[in-house]
Amino acid sequence: MENSPAFGSLAMIQPTWHHVSGSNDRRAGELYQTSLMSALMAGIYDGEATYGQIRKYGDFGLGTFNDLDGEMVGFDGAFYQLRWDGSARPVTGDQKTPFAVVTFFQPEQELEVANQMTKSELLAMIEKATDANLFNAVRVDGIFDEVRTRTVQRQARPFPPLTEATKHQAEKVFTNVEGTLAGFRSPAYAQGIGVAGFHLHFLRQDKQAGGHALDYRLRAGKVQVCTVHNLRVELPTSTEFLKTNFEDQALNQKIKAAEG
Ligand code: ZN
Repeated sequence: MENSPAFGSLAMIQPTWHHVSGSNDRRAGELYQTSLMSALMAGIYDGEATYGQIRKYGDFGLGTFNDLDGEMVGFDGAFYQLRWDGSARPVTGDQKTPFAVVTFFQPEQELEVANQMTKSELLAMIEKATDANLFNAVRVDGIFDEVRTRTVQRQARPFPPLTEATKHQAEKVFTNVEGTLAGFRSPAYAQGIGVAGFHLHFLRQDKQAGGHALDYRLRAGKVQVCTVHNLRVELPTSTEFLKTNFEDQALNQKIKAAEG
């Protein structure tokens, strides 16, 4: 407790990250993803991949379910489905997903947080300790003054784009809650393949509730991070995916200007 939070200012507190001896697990260090965030944005909410298959590529991660039936969060090898009403239940191996990102989580650095931190303070601290141009898996176990989550609602065909679907998302506020935030910090260049920046899902400690984390205030807890430098994307082969136009005019013009 030498870093007394009594003076309040984050600037005065120098976080001390501890290096955790890495593992020899050859499976660690790879991010395995099914489909693309761009495909989800385009309303492709049905995938062929099952969580039974995806579990082979990771014990940690996040995602969604076919028909956009809630959010997935997984850590310590257990995956949960966070449904529209905020409730959670274990994922079964036969459940399918249009988008999921997993890795084998082997923390490389960890930090005990004893002072209260807002979302932006916490994320700024993690940004300092990780590389912006690599993928990082992030896990925060702690007691939160507040966690605000959303969960998407199961959609019916014809599927609306994700920006429409999330207009009807259900939000939930947990106060004085113990639980885990799990997810990733992804590079800016990965926008569209995944979600650039932080993307974290929350599961309450009793594993009965949670959602996609919108905002939170950590009271105390442990932060763990793990660098991921391999990216493996399994692309869909559905007609829906093959026929979607992913052209991004703004990005096209920039790359054409550079590459001709
Ligand atoms: Zn999410």
